[in-house]
Amino acid sequence: MDNWVIGKVVNIEKYSNKLFKIFIKAYINNFISGQFTKIAIIKKKKIIQRAYSFVNASNNLILEFYILFISHGKLSRELFNLKINSKLLISRKSFGFFILKEIPYCEILWMFSSGTGVGPYLSILRENKNLERFKNLVLIHSNKFIKNCNYNSVIKNLRDNYYGKLRVLNIISQENIYGALKGRINNLIYNGILEKTIGLGLDYRKSHVMICGNPLMIKSTKEILIKLRNMKKHLHYIKGNITFERYW
Ligand SMILES: Cc1cc2nc3c(=O)[nH]c(=O)nc-3n(C[C@H](O)[C@H](O)[C@H](O)COP(=O)(O)OP(=O)(O)OC[C@H]3O[C@@H](n4cnc5c(N)ncnc54)[C@H](O)[C@@H]3O)c2cc1C
Repeated sequence: MDNWVIGKVVNIEKYSNKLFKIFIKAYINNFISGQFTKIAIIKKKKIIQRAYSFVNASNNLILEFYILFISHGKLSRELFNLKINSKLLISRKSFGFFILKEIPYCEILWMFSSGTGVGPYLSILRENKNLERFKNLVLIHSNKFIKNCNYNSVIKNLRDNYYGKLRVLNIISQENIYGALKGRINNLIYNGILEKTIGLGLDYRKSHVMICGNPLMIKSTKEILIKLRNMKKHLHYIKGNITFERYW
């Protein structure tokens, strides 16, 4: 059990469509914004563990996670049903390379997300460290419905605090919403509407694209960026423009 520490739920906020934010107090090792941890519970003497990205900045002592309750899922349903003061296990160490240190030199950092995949970017933006090297930051959050955009007020505050450096956009696939784009990320890149709306181009000489969330969204976005914007996957030792984190 050395790898785990006990965490206490200090708050849980539930939204429509089974999305929830869970706030945990736990004394874990330092992590880097953009990383994920493992959360676990013990049920019938068996440990059930899954990966979750931090949404809080790494200097915040309360750990925050944004999770989708999956009715047939093993862990998310257990977490959804926890109450304030409930205990759970959280990994002492954190993991992952979806962090700024791994992003090569570029002028514009594009952060594409779907659903709960917005988490690592909020951690990075809330922390606001090592972002001076970028001229522009762009946060795109895609969801099926506007009611799933449970971080819009946080995102708006971040945008205001970055004084024009951070551009943000909601993409909603199933509804017409004023101020948001309707459709899917790949199609909106294909028809040029996304870049026109943001006012910046996905130029491979200037841009790096991080993509996080749904594997189908990641695949279709990657494909269009490679095919139409001349971008390449970024690997640790081979410089490219696309970095991604799949949630399943
Ligand atoms: C690096 C990493 C970070 C992650 N961070 C988060 C996070 O911050 N928030 C979060 O909700 N999940 C996150 N996940 C997914 C998470 O680890 C679990 O897979 C998820 O909570 C489902 O667990 P479960 O035991 O309830 O269901 P499982 O039995 O493990 O999964 C059932 C099915 O649900 C689907 N699914 C899994 N995750 C999601 C999701 N987020 N949205 C929609 N469908 C999904 C998949 O089809 C999966 O096969 C992350 C995964 C990885 C690998």
